Amino acid sequence: MNAAPADQIRLLDLQALDSRLDQLAHRRRSLPEHAEIEKATADHTALRDLVVAAETQLGDTTREQTKAEQDVEQVRARAARNQQRLDSGAVTSPKDLENLQHEIGSLARRQSDLEDVVLDVMERMESAQTRVTELTARLEHATVVLEEAVARRDAAFAEIDADAAKVARDREAVAAVIPADLMKLYTRLREQQGGVGAARLHQRRCEGCHVEFSTADLNAVKAEPADAVVRCENCGRILVRTSDSGI
Ligand SMILES: [Zn+2]
Repeated sequence: MNAAPADQIRLLDLQALDSRLDQLAHRRRSLPEHAEIEKATADHTALRDLVVAAETQLGDTTREQTKAEQDVEQVRARAARNQQRLDSGAVTSPKDLENLQHEIGSLARRQSDLEDVVLDVMERMESAQTRVTELTARLEHATVVLEEAVARRDAAFAEIDADAAKVARDREAVAAVIPADLMKLYTRLREQQGGVGAARLHQRRCEGCHVEFSTADLNAVKAEPADAVVRCENCGRILVRTSDSGI
C-alpha cells in the first residue's frame, strides 16, 4: 500500500486523538464514584427495608396499644357500673350482693393485669418509635451520601464528555483527509493491537512495540520509497517514518 508521507504523519495525529479518546473512555468507566454509588445504593436499599420493617412494627404496636387501652376502659366501665349498683342499694339479696362483690374483685384484678399489658405495649411502642427515628436519620444520611456520589459522578461525566466531544471533532477533521484504504488498515490494526494501529519510528525504535531495529532492518525500511506504507516487522503496526526516525 502507498500513501503520501503527509497522510502517514496525519495517521500519527489520528492515533494520538484515538488514544486520547480511549483514555477518556477508560477514565469514564473507572471513576471511583462507580464503586461508591454501588455501595451507597446497597446501603440505602438495606436501610430503606429496615425503616419499612420498623414502621410496620410501630404500626402494629400502636394498634396493640389502642386495643389494650380499650380493654382497660371496658373493664373499668363495667367495674364502675357494678360499684354503682352496689352503692345504690338496689341489690338486696345476700347471694346477689356476694356475686356482685366477687365480680368487682375479679374486675379489679383483670384491670390491673390489663394495665400491665398497656405498660408493656407502651414500652415496646416507644422502642419501635426510637428505632424508626434512628433508622430514618440513617436513611436520610445514606440518601445524602448517594446523591453526593451521583452528583460527583455526573460532574466527572460532564467534564469527560465535553473533552471527548472536542477530541472527537478534531479526530473527524483529521480522519476526513486520510485516504480510505490507509484508514481501513489503521482501523483494523488498531482493533487487533490494543488500540494502537500506527506507530512512529523514533530513534530506531517502533513506538508501538518499543523493539529496536537492527541496522539491517533499519536499512530495509530506509530502502522503501517515502510513500510506501511500512509495517513493523515485530508488531505489524503501520510504521510511520519522520525526520527523527534515525534513518
Ligand atoms: Zn512494532
